Amino acid sequence: MTYLCYIETLDGKKDPLEIEVKKIELRDRIKAALKSSIVLFLLAVGFVFIPILHFILVPAFLIASIVVFWMTFSITHKITTRALKCPGCHKEISLKSQSPEFPIRFSCPECQAVFYLNKS
Ligand SMILES: [Zn+2]
Repeated sequence: MTYLCYIETLDGKKDPLEIEVKKIELRDRIKAALKSSIVLFLLAVGFVFIPILHFILVPAFLIASIVVFWMTFSITHKITTRALKCPGCHKEISLKSQSPEFPIRFSCPECQAVFYLNKS
């Protein structure tokens, strides 16, 4: 799926561009959510054996594992476009894989200019 977006510089200059966005399948969302929350869950189980502190640590890490699971599971799309052209110096800027929650703020590693990527 393609999103029509624009890069906006801090001085208000806008450049249109297209961003590729991919829907994450339910199975992959569950896998990613389990992967990110399993460590917290295992720590919660491990803290059962620590006297007194387990009254705080076990519920805290159980809640944290549920929150992390839910936050990861609720990411339904990710940006698959890997690079953008800097409107300032025209060099390539790499984009990390992330949820398309606009506006996305980023800066050019070459000219240090700050940009906003926004949906049209
Ligand atoms: Zn630049």
